[in-house]
Amino acid sequence: MTEAFPVDIGPQYEGDVIRKADLYVEFGGPKAKSKFELVTLNSPAEVEHGRIEVIGPDIFELEEGGSYPLAILIDVAGERLEKETEPVIERRIHMYTNYIQGLYHMNQREDAWVRLSKDAYKMGLKSLRDFGKILIFLYTSELSVIERVAITFITDEKRVQELLPHALEVYHARDERLKGLREEDVDQFYGCVLCQSFAPTHACIITPERLSLCGAINWFDGRAAYQLDPEGPIFEVPKGELLDPVKGEYSGANQVIAERSLGQYNRVYLHSAFEHPHTSCGCFQSICFYIPEVDGFGVVHRDFAGKTPIGASFSTMAGNTGGGRQAEGSLGMALEYMRSPKFLRADGGLYRVMWMPKEIKERYRDVIPENLYDKIATEENATNTDELVEFVDKVGHPWLRGEVELP
Ligand code: SF4
Repeated sequence: MTEAFPVDIGPQYEGDVIRKADLYVEFGGPKAKSKFELVTLNSPAEVEHGRIEVIGPDIFELEEGGSYPLAILIDVAGERLEKETEPVIERRIHMYTNYIQGLYHMNQREDAWVRLSKDAYKMGLKSLRDFGKILIFLYTSELSVIERVAITFITDEKRVQELLPHALEVYHARDERLKGLREEDVDQFYGCVLCQSFAPTHACIITPERLSLCGAINWFDGRAAYQLDPEGPIFEVPKGELLDPVKGEYSGANQVIAERSLGQYNRVYLHSAFEHPHTSCGCFQSICFYIPEVDGFGVVHRDFAGKTPIGASFSTMAGNTGGGRQAEGSLGMALEYMRSPKFLRADGGLYRVMWMPKEIKERYRDVIPENLYDKIATEENATNTDELVEFVDKVGHPWLRGEVELP
């Protein structure tokens, strides 16, 4: 055990999952309405190194077994740090939290989820301050460019809700930077294997037109991460030869997937859900799933609590999709991938989508073509495949009529 901390730390704890029976409390996740994590770069004068603040009830004041809101705000400073490294440092919350014995971190941004085990609580991890101390220790010892770190944990639901819109704006601005940049414009892509602790054959291939499955790392972030820590989990992927411009098959990505999946897979189509789809880990924001009855796709996101028309919930489908597999017709993906001009281009793109939760349909209204928007069913139109077949026939879904205009 590291003396200053109540629990041990190290990569050996990555991959330890905390199941319900072992859970002391959890923060964020599907049961907590408000949660997010955000890293902000500030000037050295603005960051009081080592400061840890807890706003709202701390772990020892919470009822065992509960799910609670949480915002993790990390302020960093360092002479060599640049604004574009914020998302990279933010994604390290996932890695470092999973280094901590008895803590488990899933997802990212406004989907963040942290679980604390009963054993870790008994060992003395009873305050978010201890969690903060360990994070600061890891940030400053693992990334020398970080000179100052201060952390604020907020568990007060009202405060988390007040600050969430700002975080969403920041995430949106990060994603916007990619607009207009195409795969053809760059010499290399980036890869990430941060999720291999839970999904040993998974590697994200991140291009300007396909961001990571967790939605937290885009091509710019990949570049910044590689520059920040060339030996870290994010690395360069030479594009190699473009073998199939529609499916998005590149010899460089194939080579990387063969190496990083330990030989399990040797081809990857970046823009198709069939044959050799991208591997899926467990951190994906959503699943794009094939519905044979309509020969189209459904898209479901992590926060959708109901069942999809195929009778399964997101969590059931996630179990059948993730773990590092290439699951044909079931693709873990970032929701923002739907904004990409290459979104499942080989399969018909957005025109092949027939169902999605109302919340997602509204959120992505601006990218769904006008002649398609009303033709995509939601939970209000179809709760099973019979209803979906009836709906898409009735409205004359463009995919069924062959009216498809890919960008
Ligand atoms: S989903 Fe991909 S980019 Fe995100 S942490 Fe996992 S491996 Fe890295």
